Amino acid sequence: MAPGYAGKILRIDLTKKSISTIDTEKYEEFGGGHGIASAIFWDLVADQLPFDAFDPRNPIIIMAGPLSGVLVPAGGGRCEVQGLGPQGYPIEWYTRSNFGGRFSAQLKYAGWDGVVIEGASRDPVWVNIVNDHVTIENAKMLWGLDVIETQEEIARRVIPNFKFGEWALLDDNYTTQVPAMLCTGPAGENMVRFASLVHGAGSGAGQGGFGAVFGSKKLKAVSVIGTGAVTIADPKALVEARLWYRRFQWNPDNPRDPEMMKPGFGLFNFAPGGGNVTNRSIPLEPARFAACASCTKACRQKLAGGIGNESTCADTIFAAALQGTRKDKEKATDLLQGYSLNAFHMPGIMSYINALYKQGLLGPGKKIDCDLPMHLAGKPEFYQAVMRKVAMREGIGDILANGLPRAAEAWGRYQEDTSSGLLNVPYWGYTEHYDARLQVEWSYATLLGDRDINGHGFNHPIHWMPESMIRAKMDPYWPADKMVEIISSKMIPYAGDPFMLDYSEGPTGIYSEHKVKQVAWYRHYNSFFLDSVLFCDWMWPLFITPTSPDKLGPTPEGEVRFFNAVTGKKATFADLMEIGRKIWNLDRAIWVLQGRHRNMEVFANYVYNVPTKAPYTLPIYEKGKWSFSTNVGRTLDREKFEQWKTKFYEFEGWNPTNGWPKRGTLESLGLKKVADTL
Ligand code: SF4
Repeated sequence: MAPGYAGKILRIDLTKKSISTIDTEKYEEFGGGHGIASAIFWDLVADQLPFDAFDPRNPIIIMAGPLSGVLVPAGGGRCEVQGLGPQGYPIEWYTRSNFGGRFSAQLKYAGWDGVVIEGASRDPVWVNIVNDHVTIENAKMLWGLDVIETQEEIARRVIPNFKFGEWALLDDNYTTQVPAMLCTGPAGENMVRFASLVHGAGSGAGQGGFGAVFGSKKLKAVSVIGTGAVTIADPKALVEARLWYRRFQWNPDNPRDPEMMKPGFGLFNFAPGGGNVTNRSIPLEPARFAACASCTKACRQKLAGGIGNESTCADTIFAAALQGTRKDKEKATDLLQGYSLNAFHMPGIMSYINALYKQGLLGPGKKIDCDLPMHLAGKPEFYQAVMRKVAMREGIGDILANGLPRAAEAWGRYQEDTSSGLLNVPYWGYTEHYDARLQVEWSYATLLGDRDINGHGFNHPIHWMPESMIRAKMDPYWPADKMVEIISSKMIPYAGDPFMLDYSEGPTGIYSEHKVKQVAWYRHYNSFFLDSVLFCDWMWPLFITPTSPDKLGPTPEGEVRFFNAVTGKKATFADLMEIGRKIWNLDRAIWVLQGRHRNMEVFANYVYNVPTKAPYTLPIYEKGKWSFSTNVGRTLDREKFEQWKTKFYEFEGWNPTNGWPKRGTLESLGLKKVADTL
């Protein structure tokens, strides 16, 4: 098998209780991760679409990538999950999610590139993978446990008498590792449409609702441990690339620019531990930095108190907004993870019901009857109650467990509240990540796809860097004109067009052909490098960085050096972007079979009707000059956006009438059988 790949993918049918393998080689052209998963999904069920996410035919596909388990900075520890996602609205689109930790590394060390799970069991089960030995185990005693209890119990069953720091006998070999487990908690068991999958203490595949898909299959967990290794094509080139990469790393003992250490700069300074926002105020809780396998950024924290460990980003932002002590907030993150609730959707639930309560529409005996202590909103008693009711589908939690758009629809409020912006679900029922009227590469790419894209490659340098530095009364470390020049020079194959980064409403801005190229680049890059090779979105692409001597980042050189060193291929960045384009078109074809049409690709009404109020820094080009603007008062123009969509479809080789990929486009990408099916 080609270096970087284990060579086989595990296939489990929970209805038939059968276990078989798929050769990875058959799908290697898709690179790994999401690309391979989409190709397998297509082969298994495309001819049966549409059906819904809880149909036993929905395969849930968990994939590693070629760099998983290899010492590639922020490239060896992510794992990709896909299938039909019950969170999507109004259609449960084929979608994806991603989590960090050590699961994908263990999968590779056990000799597998991925796991495809089909069918549904009648009784609760978990899957036990120890190298080549795979069994489907009884999970009756695990059903009802939270994700931490579940993992502790499975770890005991896989390696009884395991002691940390000592060698344990495993499958005729020895290990110091505990198994890596991916599981769901009560929310998944109760098929809460935004239930997550959790690995370890705080790594979660949140968006999409794959915890609920596990629940629908009566699958509690997948556990894996291996004692093998990953074959590297060119170890010398890998070590050289790794040493070269040191120039982009934060050195905690001798930071290049101590000014950049401000806690508010955590999203773009690449200092370790920056992903946990509950532990930022003095006095800090002692912590050590924690990382997914191989990551040098180590954005997580392991806290001395042992609560809230490894939660990062959305999980801690959610908790930081709650009332109570730091301990209360850390407990809230653990509760969220324990139930397996999506940290991005749950805060939206809380703020929406609170807004309805304040308007007198929701509460005990109100039009929307509610059995929650709404007068305590934000306090521990409130958030503990709401999480429990949603996870267990008790009382009002039963409606809320179907997700925000479906709850609003059941209450007859969807149209009104998405028009006013009270309910900010701009695309496919997912809550707004960044303002859809402003961070438009994000919102456009999401609307043309399936879920909140959650790709920070542009957002970190063009928004957070200037925004945070200006707020701190510092000059951005690159001025707007230099920044757009540098970033655009790295955007192969469209390099050299700085107007791709113009967020003005002018002729080169958000409705222009330049924005078409940026969104296409973003989707193709993410499809290959983030979702399939599994570089981490919190680190890659890295265009600019305060940590290198010239403040330039490793993109596009880094991605190619690591990929080629591990796989032995001699690909260029443009070659790999072309595979991303192929995967993006394959996904598009799946959505077409689910009913996608350009008429559906419209934002919620508030995006077009309600002007933004808060300042939001982005680069704009106006009157012949680049500057960072705060862009207050922005709405999207419906007609101009429709014209922009036409330009985008034509650029991608899709039919502008319906948004479907044209036969010629698919055939030129080697997707003739996809074209034949469409
Ligand atoms: S940046 Fe954070 S989430 Fe990403 S791989 Fe590193 S430790 Fe994991």
